[in-house]
Amino acid sequence: MSIIPPRFLPRVGNDPLTQAFDRPSLGGAMMGGPPGPSPDIDRSYETLWDQPPREPLAAYVNIPFCPSFCPFCGFFKVRHDEELEKRYLASLLREIAREGELLRAHELRISALFIGGGTPALLSPALLGELLEGIARAAPLAADAEITLEGRVSVMDREKAQTIFRGGVNRLSLGIQSFDRGVRARAGRGDSPRKIVSFIDETAALGAGALTLDLMFGLPGQTAEIFARDLETAASLPIDALSAYLTKVMPQTALAREVSDGSALPPLSRLAECYRHADRFLADKGFEKVSANHFRRTQRDRNLYNYLTMGLYDLVGWGAGAGSFTRGKLSLNAQDLGVYADGVERGLKPLAMVRPPHPLAEAMATVSRTLFLGVLGRDLLRREPFDAPLVSELIAVWNEAGLVEEEEKGFKLTQAGFFWRSNLEEGLKGVLSLGLPSARGPAPGAAPTPSRGPMN
Ligand code: SF4
Repeated sequence: MSIIPPRFLPRVGNDPLTQAFDRPSLGGAMMGGPPGPSPDIDRSYETLWDQPPREPLAAYVNIPFCPSFCPFCGFFKVRHDEELEKRYLASLLREIAREGELLRAHELRISALFIGGGTPALLSPALLGELLEGIARAAPLAADAEITLEGRVSVMDREKAQTIFRGGVNRLSLGIQSFDRGVRARAGRGDSPRKIVSFIDETAALGAGALTLDLMFGLPGQTAEIFARDLETAASLPIDALSAYLTKVMPQTALAREVSDGSALPPLSRLAECYRHADRFLADKGFEKVSANHFRRTQRDRNLYNYLTMGLYDLVGWGAGAGSFTRGKLSLNAQDLGVYADGVERGLKPLAMVRPPHPLAEAMATVSRTLFLGVLGRDLLRREPFDAPLVSELIAVWNEAGLVEEEEKGFKLTQAGFFWRSNLEEGLKGVLSLGLPSARGPAPGAAPTPSRGPMN
C-alpha cells in the first residue's frame, strides 16, 4: 500500500477535469489576516542583506488602498484616504530608495516589477506620478524590465492611463472579472459594461504598452453562458492577453460567509466546463496558452512577473504587507500602516514575519517552475530528489488519472492537469517533503506575495 497521503492523490477512472480532486487547492498565497508580530526578527538591513537576493529578480510594490470591498477578495487592503495615501507614499519611497541602493551595490537589476494592491490606479494622477517617478529614480530596473500596474476601470480615465504609461509602466493589467451587469453588481462593481469597453478601446489606442484583462468564472450569479459571453467580449477587444481565474472562496471573505451553506456555489463540474470552454474558445481566437490561467494574443505581453514569482525566483517586496522571497526565505512587511511607517522611519526593514527556507527550497522552486510551464522533463526526473520512487509513483497516478501525458521528453500537463495545477504542485511538494523532520509545516506555496493576484 502506498504511503502517499490520500489528499495528494487524484481520483482515477473519472473525467479528470471535473473529478480528479474534490476542490482546487488554495496554494500558498498569503491570504487572510496579518501574520502575528515576531519580536525576535533582526530587521537591520545589514543582517538581512548578508545573503542578498539573486537574479533573475522580481519586485513587488504594494498600494493597499481600495475604494471598495469585493466579496471574494482575501487581500490585505485599507480604505481609500488621500491624506493617508500621501503619508504612506513617503514611507514607501524611502523603503524603495534604501533597498534600491543595496541592489545597486550588489549590481542587481530588477527584471519584472509589479505594482499591485489594493487598487494602485486609485491614487490621484499627482500621487501616481510621484510614485512612478520615485520608483524609476530609486529602483535599479533592467533596461527591458516589465513594469505592470494593476488597474481598475472605475478609478481610471484617459489622463490617468497616460500618466501611468508616461511614468514607465509598460503593462496594464485590468481587473474586469465579468462584463455582465448583474454579476458585476453582486461582486460590488458598478461600472457599466459599455464604459469598460470604451475605456479599453481608448487605452489600447494609446499604443503605450501591453493590455491584459483578468476575468473570473464561478462568481455568484455567473452562469456558464454569461462566462462564455464574457470571453467573447474580451476576445473582441484590442487586448494583448487575458487571464481566466476560477473564483476561489478565500477564508474570512464576504463570499465565504455567503456560501457557507454551499447553496450559492456553482458545482465544480460546471466550473471545470467553463475552463474547458475558455481553453478551446481562446485557442480558436488566436490566443496562446502560456500558463494554467493566462492566454496571450501578442508577444507584447511577456507575463514575466507571474513566471518569476510563481516559479519562486527571488523577489523584493516594498510596502505594507508586501512579501519578499530571498534564497527560499519568505518575509512579510508589517500590514499595520503605523508599524510599517515606524520601521521605515527607524531605518529598518519593517518586517512582521520571516519564514526560513524549506530544507528542499531549490527542489520546491523547481516544482513550481516546471508545473507553471506544464512540463516535467525526463532529465529532471532522473535527478535527485525527483528520482525518488514515490515521485515516480505519484506521476504514474497522475498519468493514469489523465492529468499528465507521456511524451518523448517527459510528461506534460493535460488540460485537466492545468486546471488542477495547484493540487499537483501541493502533491509533488508534499511527496518530496515526506520524511523530512523539518517539513512538518506547509511546503512553500506558489505565491509569496500577499497582495498580488487575479483581482482588482
Ligand atoms: S479585489 Fe481589488 S478592488 Fe476588490 S476589494 Fe480586493 S483589492 Fe479592492
